Amino acid sequence: MPAAEVRTTCPYCGVGCGVLARVATDGSVTVRGNPDHPANRGRLCSKGTALGETTGLDGRVLAPEIGGREAGWDEALGLVAQRFSETIARHGPDSVAFYVSGQLLTEDYYVANKLMKGFIGSANIDTNSRLCMASSVAGHKRAFGEDIVPGVYEDFELAELVVLVGSNTAWCHPILYQRLLSARQERGTRIVVIDPRRTATADECDLHLAIDPGTDVLLFNGLLAHLGRSGLLDRDYIAEATSGFPEALSVAMADAPSPEAVAAGCGLAPAEVRLFFELFAAKERSITVYSQGVNQSTHGTDKVNAIINCHLATGRIGRPGMGPFSVTGQPNAMGGREVGGLANQLAAHMNFDDQAAIDRVGRFWRAPDIARAPGLQAVDMFRAAGDGRIKALWVMGTNPAVSMPDATRVRAALKACDFVVVSDVVRTDTTRFAHVFLPAATWGEKDGTVTNSERLISRQRSFLPIPGEARPDWRIVCDVARLMGFGAAFDYAGPDVIFREHAALSGFENYGERLFDIRGLAGLEKSEYESFAPSHWPAAGKGSDATRLLGGRRFPTPDGRARFVAVRQEGVAHPTDAQRPIGLNSGRLRDQWHTMTRTGRVPRLMANAPEPAVEINALDAARSGCADGDLVRLDSPHGFARARVKISDAQKPGQAFLPMHWSGHYAANAGAGPLASPLCDAFSGQPELKHVPIRIHRE
Ligand code: SF4
Repeated sequence: MPAAEVRTTCPYCGVGCGVLARVATDGSVTVRGNPDHPANRGRLCSKGTALGETTGLDGRVLAPEIGGREAGWDEALGLVAQRFSETIARHGPDSVAFYVSGQLLTEDYYVANKLMKGFIGSANIDTNSRLCMASSVAGHKRAFGEDIVPGVYEDFELAELVVLVGSNTAWCHPILYQRLLSARQERGTRIVVIDPRRTATADECDLHLAIDPGTDVLLFNGLLAHLGRSGLLDRDYIAEATSGFPEALSVAMADAPSPEAVAAGCGLAPAEVRLFFELFAAKERSITVYSQGVNQSTHGTDKVNAIINCHLATGRIGRPGMGPFSVTGQPNAMGGREVGGLANQLAAHMNFDDQAAIDRVGRFWRAPDIARAPGLQAVDMFRAAGDGRIKALWVMGTNPAVSMPDATRVRAALKACDFVVVSDVVRTDTTRFAHVFLPAATWGEKDGTVTNSERLISRQRSFLPIPGEARPDWRIVCDVARLMGFGAAFDYAGPDVIFREHAALSGFENYGERLFDIRGLAGLEKSEYESFAPSHWPAAGKGSDATRLLGGRRFPTPDGRARFVAVRQEGVAHPTDAQRPIGLNSGRLRDQWHTMTRTGRVPRLMANAPEPAVEINALDAARSGCADGDLVRLDSPHGFARARVKISDAQKPGQAFLPMHWSGHYAANAGAGPLASPLCDAFSGQPELKHVPIRIHRE
């Protein structure tokens, strides 16, 4: 009799598709989409369908290592605890840091955050999600008072107009895109894509606005000004539920006085701009979906607020088929944000700017040394590792030696740091720098929860035994905490116990002022946690289904009003010039994930794009003296990379695109990381991964 199928969740993108996995008697794994999971209703994309081919043990490191030699857990954990404790004793809590990952489950994240912020006494824990969605988080907090995604995926199907900004949804959130296209067949949904590149998503849309990089604020200021000029504002809503509108409108009108001015500033035709404005004005049921093209910018937070301003001005928020909608990258798109995985957040959506919240979290954790100020964010954390301020760094489940901007400098920082711990599944470019390697359990082996981009909490369940000596991340963190003398606070029997504590914290002294509230799940029995069905917060555990937020007229701000934010067009931080005449954009391919440590193992996923290729326009190829298929070197102010030339009219002249994925495992200096700029958004700390000036030349 075949083994039963196990209900779990895909480990890749923030759509968070439900997967049914089955292990055959020969150990092979088959997967199919879970027809009962609300995110995907049975569908899986190319990456998801290949999951069964990624569960083998090839390349796994299954025992701890110290300095490259195999060691026992006791020795390795003892050394980690000793070095962290000694460093803290000698140099203070801010001399250590954790750099964690959106691949962690919520329970892993929770204990890592609790250890750093509650017991070590520093907020130096940041996540690779900083590179993904930090600008959306900052924009949401500025506008709503809390990091809230108002809508649910169903809104993609209910909208009359879907505006996709800086999002190649067809490749990066494929199942969500399929849901949108299916709905369009039935309802005739209009789709506008705003993206400098003509992507697979743009190929299918009704209107593609190929704006110049960094001009999103100008476009949405133009839309706000158009709504104001045309009398298309929801004046009642603005008066009752918002603040700051007059200033935001006046700045938008000055910034973007006419569609012609917007067109000139964005590199568009005036007719295209007018058509977009008219479409938005005409379709009340409209959602504006934004992703990395908006977030990964030195003005990402302003871009988010420029978008939200247009929805607040029309009262189109939190109602069916309406609202601004951030779609982010990783499977635990929102889980890390909920527990405080970002250095500037505390836990349960509480913040360091609120002394009462700091005391509250300290009381709840019975924390001996609660952190009282934000910690170092990703880019600054690696700077600090490089210049000696961070003396002990623990990297969990991520590969910053490839994925961080200015990656060459990040590698130098890892090399310079006194003590580097890496917990991961396989060897990566980052594990080369580890003084101690700790083998972690991976997808299919570990158990916990994730929260996707629509606030849907789902279970990831194990269906394979944990091989060798690998351990789940939450347990590794708790083991180290115990050896550092914090055992009583980290004595968890399993992830269900951690989840209950996380849920209880969300309701602790929460008298309705914080929207993130899943206290209804704090009483889950172990068996209920095991069988937990996907559920949106904050309705999770209350027997309710899909929940839109912010549809009423009260927001979690001090005065209960949503805030317009007056934003001005600023442009990219480092424009092109004669020396580096091409602007490089970076992003994902359809069939790959992150630095390819999992998807790179599947031949059929490698087949479509077997080597790194830089896409450029024929004009730029001619100017750079290269032809299709040539091997070229790309130089930015920060580093270099090599790639094959792919001539494509999807790129406007003066712009190029390089995938982010390739790591040194496949080809040295072949991804976008070494080229990318470490300049960051002032509000979010998110680096400008979508634009850096480069020069291309044949070697
Ligand atoms: Fe779904 Fe994303 Fe996984 Fe594809 S990669 S199956 S869209 S969660």
